[in-house]
Amino acid sequence: MSTATAYAKSLQSQPPRRISILGATGSIGRSTLDLIGRDPARYHVVALTGNRNAELLAAQAIAHNAELAVLADPSRYNELKAALAGTSIEAAAGDDALMEAVAHPVEWTMAAIVGSAGLRPTLEAVRQGTTVALANKECLVSAGDIFMQAVAKSGTQLLPVDSEHSAGFQAIDPKVSISIEKITLTASGGPFRTWTLEQMKDASPEDALKHPNWSMGQKLTIDSATLMNKGLELIEAYHLFPVEPEQLDVVIHPQSIVHCLVEYSDGSVIAQMSSPDMRTPIAYSLAWPERMWAPTERLDLAKIGSLTFESPDYERFPALRIAREALESDNGATTVLNAANEIAVDAFLGRRLGLLSICVLVAETMEAAVRAGLSKPKSLDEVLELDKRSRMLARSLLTELV
Ligand code: NDP
Repeated sequence: MSTATAYAKSLQSQPPRRISILGATGSIGRSTLDLIGRDPARYHVVALTGNRNAELLAAQAIAHNAELAVLADPSRYNELKAALAGTSIEAAAGDDALMEAVAHPVEWTMAAIVGSAGLRPTLEAVRQGTTVALANKECLVSAGDIFMQAVAKSGTQLLPVDSEHSAGFQAIDPKVSISIEKITLTASGGPFRTWTLEQMKDASPEDALKHPNWSMGQKLTIDSATLMNKGLELIEAYHLFPVEPEQLDVVIHPQSIVHCLVEYSDGSVIAQMSSPDMRTPIAYSLAWPERMWAPTERLDLAKIGSLTFESPDYERFPALRIAREALESDNGATTVLNAANEIAVDAFLGRRLGLLSICVLVAETMEAAVRAGLSKPKSLDEVLELDKRSRMLARSLLTELV
């Protein structure tokens, strides 16, 4: 019997793995269900959650035979209930219902709620002490220290899903992590990589939403266009990996094939490569510590021809500098940065703010927060309070900018 057949047989004898997906109706959630749907016998779907998209959530819950479907927004409860009528799937809605869903015992949770709304539910999943596949960025950006302390306390196995951090996780050998000199995250450069500042001034949301390589939710696509996404990823990498901020670097790599490079003290650089498809890092987190088959395009390096790299332009893309300053200041500024950026991206999508003003608003909010006496939050409640105050501050500064 071949090793592959023996492995497949050994999996068949295992009971299905109990899993939940927070943010099932989003881009990451849908890709996760796509993988699970290709081998349904291996998974038992416990809870699927969304915010307002009752129709899709109900369809997903029925297709994957989930126990429970929960919407964060209670105003959509009746729609969800009606769509699940005649099934044995439980429908629920509201913040408390979401937290109860997270508390259902599972072996693996995908944390893919977008924004700071994901903080409490993801932290609750961590407190269960099982495996958490982390896509939500805000847990590490807004509440990194608190989040990682909770991970250490509960013994949770945290598996990064972001392609760059999944790549770093794969390239780091924990036995020799002390010998890491540098970790470099790659960035595609987004749709404005070759635009001049003058052109960027008039960029529309439609321009910004045309990402050259990746298919993602709206907020993240805009963050990729300003390179704020890479700034947020620097902060995430600091919390996930055993390095200081100055050991983190970013390089522009327009093909999005190499995702992260880990350089060791002997000069060796270990990089992870794959086609730009989130199903690869999601599959890695689903199968870890094994590997599973994923339906992604295989790399044909000869066909690709060349992989190119360039330094980021900090003048056109100040987000990287702002995010690094927030990380190094270690005073809660990353929480402010995240909140202000969410307000700014929302205003840009609503055509109330220009693309280049996104970073202006974020920087001004951070400066105003420091002037008002910024200090590092010590609990999740303090993070949420600072997040709320930062949003109010950003909204009031927004009215002066437009
Ligand atoms: P989407 O916007 O596509 O999906 C977000 C999900 O969160 C949806 O299920 C949405 O529900 C739900 N949601 C939105 N608001 C709330 C709320 N207030 N309470 C509870 N649930 C809510 O985002 P993505 O899937 O693109 O991204 C998810 C997270 O993963 C983000 O933090 C992102 O930064 C990160 N990430 C994403 C990557 C990608 O390629 N997409 C790559 C790496 C990280 P509904 O559909 O009902 O609105």
